[in-house]
Amino acid sequence: MRLADLHLHSHFSDGTYSPEELAAQAQRCRLAAIALTDHDSVEGCPGTAVACAAKEIEFIPGTELTAEQDGNELHLLGYFIDTQNPSLLRRLARFQAVRQDRIHEMVARLNRLKVPLSAEAVFALASCRAPGRPHVARALVQAGLCVNLDEAFERFLKKNRPAWVPKFKMSAAEAVDLIHQAQGVAVLAHPGLNRTDQVIPGMVEAGLDGIECFHTKHSTAPSQHYLALAARFHLLVTGGSDCHGLSKGKPLIGTVKVPYQHVETLKARSAEIKTAALLHSPLMSLPANAVEKP
Ligand SMILES: [Zn+2]
Ligand SMILES: [Zn+2]
Repeated sequence: MRLADLHLHSHFSDGTYSPEELAAQAQRCRLAAIALTDHDSVEGCPGTAVACAAKEIEFIPGTELTAEQDGNELHLLGYFIDTQNPSLLRRLARFQAVRQDRIHEMVARLNRLKVPLSAEAVFALASCRAPGRPHVARALVQAGLCVNLDEAFERFLKKNRPAWVPKFKMSAAEAVDLIHQAQGVAVLAHPGLNRTDQVIPGMVEAGLDGIECFHTKHSTAPSQHYLALAARFHLLVTGGSDCHGLSKGKPLIGTVKVPYQHVETLKARSAEIKTAALLHSPLMSLPANAVEKP
């Protein structure tokens, strides 16, 4: 059976794999298709597309956005997005700037706690435009200031710990809209992890296309629960490992995979979204006689 892992991170966000390493790992796991879903970034997509093509693995460009609804953080996956879309790129650049400011603020808080970490050390380690808390945690371990990543999060970086800094977030509806503007398919990521069932009906109204039913942090019962919700709200089903490379021990890529038929339904929805965008483009809404005939 052909299988796909539709939730992966690279070193363009907080993963450790390069595009080439991701493609090699996907080949090792015999995956027919993979999607790259870096946080607030699409930078890794062109390189991963090339690396996958060389191994005859189908590649789906994607991203993972952070939003907030009723005080809960939630993540939105965008699949088959147009990675050149100007409004998407503008918004991603803004999110990346916010992330970089947040690193400075977290480091300042650590310094006030007499933890001598420098922002430069975090940026050097992250070496990407979308740095986040995992990079601060890794820098703390690398500098010998924490024994491991768990200690870094438990002592300093988890929500409401002394170096935690709240993050700007858009609303769930805005995130769905941004993905649709970039002609992508909008999927709610790992709802079992964020425990955000109550926001799903509102997101369906905002145009949500799918739910990530299968995920590393979803055991059988949550997966079944979200499959039932997907059926009730007529949503697409996706799944993936949320692999971040080797940052947390063994790579997760390929440990959660979905049958290829889910890629086909995603693709069909993507085609509908792209057709609708074309019908609403300024050129198509001109009266027929205003378009010059060749
Ligand atoms: Zn996530
Ligand atoms: Zn993720």
